[in-house]
Amino acid sequence: MIIVLRAGATEEDVRQIEDTIKGRGLTAHISRGVERTIIGAIGDERNLDPDAFEGLPAVEKVLRILVPFKLVSREFSKENTVITVNGKTVGGKALALFAGPCSVEGRDMMVGLGERVASAGATFLRGGAFKPRTSPYAFQGLGEEGLKYLAEARDRTGLPVATELMDPRDIDLVSRYADIIQIGARNMQNFRLLTEVGKLDKPVILKRGMSATIQEWLMSAEYIASEGNQKIILCERGIRTYETATRNTFDVSSIPVVKSLSHLPVIADPSHAAGKMALVEPLAAAAIAAGADGLMIEVHHQPEKALSDGPQSLRPEAFTQMIVRLRKVAEAVGRSL
Ligand code: PEP
Ligand code: MN
Repeated sequence: MIIVLRAGATEEDVRQIEDTIKGRGLTAHISRGVERTIIGAIGDERNLDPDAFEGLPAVEKVLRILVPFKLVSREFSKENTVITVNGKTVGGKALALFAGPCSVEGRDMMVGLGERVASAGATFLRGGAFKPRTSPYAFQGLGEEGLKYLAEARDRTGLPVATELMDPRDIDLVSRYADIIQIGARNMQNFRLLTEVGKLDKPVILKRGMSATIQEWLMSAEYIASEGNQKIILCERGIRTYETATRNTFDVSSIPVVKSLSHLPVIADPSHAAGKMALVEPLAAAAIAAGADGLMIEVHHQPEKALSDGPQSLRPEAFTQMIVRLRKVAEAVGRSL
């Protein structure tokens, strides 16, 4: 249930409503907007009667939410969520641009690529130190060493870094270095992991599981939000279908669908969707045109030698040229890049 307060509601009004919600065994989530405060009552709503609030002078309206995801729903907030990390935003007019290698492979490579993508216009760096590989014999990532190189790249470029967390046991370690925690497609329904990142005060990129419906994806976001962390960035990275010409099928329609169902920002990862470097640009253009709030692009200085995802990684020069062309697409839909 969502309780929308009138513009003049006081802190005392908020506290009274919160007490009533807690008294019925539910949790109160308070969201203070520019004009209005909204209180979400989360839990078993059978214990809560809307009449308990509807008559209060401070209350404008009470809404029962029918979708199974509440805190992340459009009903909870009409305003788009904008997430700011060290001065860089995700969800505003300017598109967020996450770029970097699939895996952090070494110091010089990470710092060098960081500088190249930064000068091309990237606003965030990416790079995996813990890699979810299909084969246990494939390169698994440099672990903490990789995190240190990422932090060095951040210091050199001033750009916040995003990196994947695969295991709740690594949460303290990864949080020490990362500005944004990435939950990969393979872990989208690792509910214990979602609950743990929900307790952090750090933005989380939640990638869509390769076989997840949009509703399942939003329910996973709700796991994070219901623990208190509402700084969630959704990332469409393609889904598995019968088509084999691409690594995954890029579900461009999920972008406007999610934007209508949720207030959270949505970025697109055309690299993992395509699996092929030649397809990254057209999919990125489609994502921007469809309303994505940003892109995540894999870049490597020598894709043929990359330890993971070389075939879909752009060389820094190709990345730089692509961004120049994508800027026009962004401008055409009222965004900047
Ligand atoms: C990645 O970003 O390198 C990655 C492993 O992505 P996904 O979880 O979408 O496969
Ligand atoms: Mn990758």
